[in-house]
Amino acid sequence: MQQGYFSKEYTFMMIKPDAVKAGHSGAILKRIEEEGFQIRALKRLRLTKEQAMGFYAVHSARPFFGELTDFMASGPVIAAVLERDNAVAHWREVIGATDPAEAAPNTIRKLFAKSKGENAVHGSDSKENAAIETAFFFSGLELVGQ
Ligand code: UDP
Ligand code: MG
Repeated sequence: MQQGYFSKEYTFMMIKPDAVKAGHSGAILKRIEEEGFQIRALKRLRLTKEQAMGFYAVHSARPFFGELTDFMASGPVIAAVLERDNAVAHWREVIGATDPAEAAPNTIRKLFAKSKGENAVHGSDSKENAAIETAFFFSGLELVGQ
């Protein structure tokens, strides 16, 4: 996804099926705005197993891949593109460590994650992956609105 659609840095996030099911979507979206992100695109959808495998293809050799992709296809997710200065690093800081047991106080995963697998939210780990993941979920037409 071209940086030209944005005036600041952007990242890609998902609210995962555990947090959507548990009714934490509103609190997480509120936190996104409180952290100074602009929500540039937003959608709710349910991934198929194949789509979840495509999104997490980088982890296909890992022992948790089957469980992870079953979980990601187990219910609806909310996907969004977030714009802000330093968006990628700031969102990773706000969500906290992968395992909620290791996540810092008041991070989203500390507040809402159930386990290392069912950990409430996703965040891109680099600008390059933010572009790839945004393009997986959104078209240019969904990003041009100001
Ligand atoms: N995951 C898991 N077990 C692990 C490591 C990761 O189930 O030991 C899941 C978890 O949902 C995590 C996702 O796989 O969010 C992707 O893993 P990654 O290491 O990229 O963590 P993240 O970037 O999401 O913090
Ligand atoms: Mg990751």
